[in-house]
Amino acid sequence: MKEKHGFWLHHIRSSKSSVSGFFYLPECDCSCCGETMRMEKDICPVCGAIMDKEIPADIQKEIDAFSADLKKGEVEDTQFTQVIRKVLQKETGSK
Ligand SMILES: [Zn+2]
Repeated sequence: MKEKHGFWLHHIRSSKSSVSGFFYLPECDCSCCGETMRMEKDICPVCGAIMDKEIPADIQKEIDAFSADLKKGEVEDTQFTQVIRKVLQKETGSK
């Protein structure tokens, strides 16, 4: 079986008391299978991917863009999961 490597994408919640306008939740999605976990693990319990990959720059850019919009109040934090799915599809589709 080929070894898979991935990274966790944490869900975010907007927060008026936070300087950045949001904070990261313990819940996160696996970049390989897209399953949502209640917290980070070293290996994805669903697909077995080793979670040691850095978040790719283009995905980090999406997250930064989303959090900037979130701070401006232009998006809802609940939309973040959709954004995650979109960037994950890009990630898995580019292989
Ligand atoms: Zn997985």
